Amino acid sequence: MLLDSLMWGFWLALAVYCFWYFFKAKTFQPLNLDDLALTWRLHKQQTGCTASRLHSLLARNNEVVGFKCECGHEFQQKRLITQKVRKLHVSLGYSEPSYSLKAVKLEEKH
Ligand SMILES: [Zn+2]
Repeated sequence: MLLDSLMWGFWLALAVYCFWYFFKAKTFQPLNLDDLALTWRLHKQQTGCTASRLHSLLARNNEVVGFKCECGHEFQQKRLITQKVRKLHVSLGYSEPSYSLKAVKLEEKH
């Protein structure tokens, strides 16, 4: 019966890992200001953007997760384990916590 319980332990661990992978792994990652500056500089290099400052910072749960450049470019830090996540971040780029996703969806219907 020892083997049985080992098997169950294995499957349980696998299930927990899968759960983490699909739900936790896609959550926003907080940025420190060094990362932010570096990422912004990279954006300016890559796009030829000439903005002299950031338009705003994007925050979630009181942590900075990205920024909005003066040129309109928005960046949010995520662990990109799956490439599907990349499409989401355009529509999620609201810096004000008061803009819930519900409100955004309602606006689109009108
Ligand atoms: Zn820019």
